[in-house]
Amino acid sequence: KRNDFIVDGYHISGPQGSNDFALPTSVGGPDDYFSALNMPREFEYQKPEGAASEMRIPIDNFDHMTWYENNYDCGHFFAGANKPWVKDVWNSGLNSTPWSEELKQAFTRVRAINISENEKHNNDQWLDSITLKSYYENVLGMPPKVTSFYDPIMASIIGFGCDALSAYWGKYFEMPGFLNTDQIDAPHLQSFPGGNTGIARHFIKKLIPNSIKGNTFEDILFNPVDFSQLDREVNPIRMRLNSTAVNVQHVGKGSDQEGVQVIYNNKNKLYRIKSKTAVMASGGWVNRRILKDLPGRYHEAYNKINHSPVLVANVALTNWRFLERLGISAAFWTEGIGFTCNIRRPMIVGNRSQPLNPDKPIVMTFYIPIIKPGLQAREQGALCRAELLTKSFNDYEREIREQMTLMFSSGGFDPTNDIAGIILNRWGHAYVNPGLGFVHGLNGSTPPSDILRKPYGRIAIGHSELRGHQYWNGAAGEGRRAAESLLDKFF
Ligand SMILES: Cc1cc2nc3c(=O)[nH]c(=O)nc-3n(C[C@H](O)[C@H](O)[C@H](O)COP(=O)(O)OP(=O)(O)OC[C@H]3O[C@@H](n4cnc5c(N)ncnc54)[C@H](O)[C@@H]3O)c2cc1C
Repeated sequence: KRNDFIVDGYHISGPQGSNDFALPTSVGGPDDYFSALNMPREFEYQKPEGAASEMRIPIDNFDHMTWYENNYDCGHFFAGANKPWVKDVWNSGLNSTPWSEELKQAFTRVRAINISENEKHNNDQWLDSITLKSYYENVLGMPPKVTSFYDPIMASIIGFGCDALSAYWGKYFEMPGFLNTDQIDAPHLQSFPGGNTGIARHFIKKLIPNSIKGNTFEDILFNPVDFSQLDREVNPIRMRLNSTAVNVQHVGKGSDQEGVQVIYNNKNKLYRIKSKTAVMASGGWVNRRILKDLPGRYHEAYNKINHSPVLVANVALTNWRFLERLGISAAFWTEGIGFTCNIRRPMIVGNRSQPLNPDKPIVMTFYIPIIKPGLQAREQGALCRAELLTKSFNDYEREIREQMTLMFSSGGFDPTNDIAGIILNRWGHAYVNPGLGFVHGLNGSTPPSDILRKPYGRIAIGHSELRGHQYWNGAAGEGRRAAESLLDKFF
């Protein structure tokens, strides 16, 4: 769902959470939902106008975090320093930071490492058996401040910080310490207006064509969803909203059993349906509770999987002259709520685009991981989730306004006039946290995701969390794999 605002007559939007996409290779494989849904592969983005015409602004909310930071106007904020803003921090700006000499040298060293030049370290199985924190500090000899600098970056993409992830994920995400930052050449991540709701809309259009009027990319992105079309008897595929499955299990006897019974709640009434098979596309924190005949080894596998929360805050601004004056489109900081925020260049769809002019409204997005490094992952998840779900909107709003005022008032930021609205998206189980052995297993054991991928009876599990890194390619791929495993056997 997009976070939509109307500010001074302009429709502007931000991502609710899931935000960017990398184009899947066009091979028609399970992950290639772009081909399956006939989605376009080339996109244009609005250019900055007015006084900001020369500014370098990201097109999504992740690429600037470390990988392509040098491509954008990013500023690091050091509260209390004589010159609190430092730009081009990894090159000309490094000596303007208040960091110690030891820390500056450590950052320079870690950003230059290329693991492919070190056979001993470039071993996925070994990396999956140690924490990322241990890799940075014990293997590379980095000071803990390097680890804590990368904690929120990892947590914003995969849930927890370096203490609760295996080092394999540092390599997977091409973090400093694994690939020389200057050698990164992955394609830029892209983002629809309002994030990956654009993909969800293409899925629903493909499955139930009458659900969205029109056939162009623009129609599918912006026309309203006709919810009355989703659950019609004439549809070959039906989608029932507001229906929470509470009990899913096999019925009948024999190894192949007769079918699957699903009991679900809709407006406080329970309903029962019977199907030939079921794909569980929900996450483990749900499946382990509602799959009533889930075998013991699946429970054991789920017990090894943890989930963590993330808060995504979209702040609608009436203007962003303060950013233009400071010369930054993305900010980083190490104290206070969150750790980064940015504005992005809106995608041009048809002949529509949201404005990109410092005198006009825009959405500024904050990815705010909530972590408690040092605690066990399960404990961190529960504590941080409780914090996320119980803190009041007013408290979050105040913290965000204070953080912005501290950082941006030197550019003329005035919260009363410049903030038009704030939407908070509280993701209690945002991400699965792939701890030690998630990919390769520990001491010869089968990785939990491999156990969960095997259908049991007529039920198959197909959630994106099985990839460790949750993203849309993996969601499409795991869903298709689960469905096909049942089709082969029962249809
Ligand atoms: C904050 C955040 C940022 C992200 N950023 C990105 C990104 O930039 N790019 C990217 O590709 N991915 C991103 N992701 C991941 C992406 O959102 C998922 O991979 C994607 O949603 C597909 O996941 P899925 O289909 O496997 O499961 P989900 O999206 O979790 O869908 C599961 C569905 O099951 C439903 N459900 C759950 N329990 C029940 C029940 N008992 N009965 C009935 N229905 C139920 C849920 O309502 C939900 O609709 C992000 C995720 C989060 C949380």
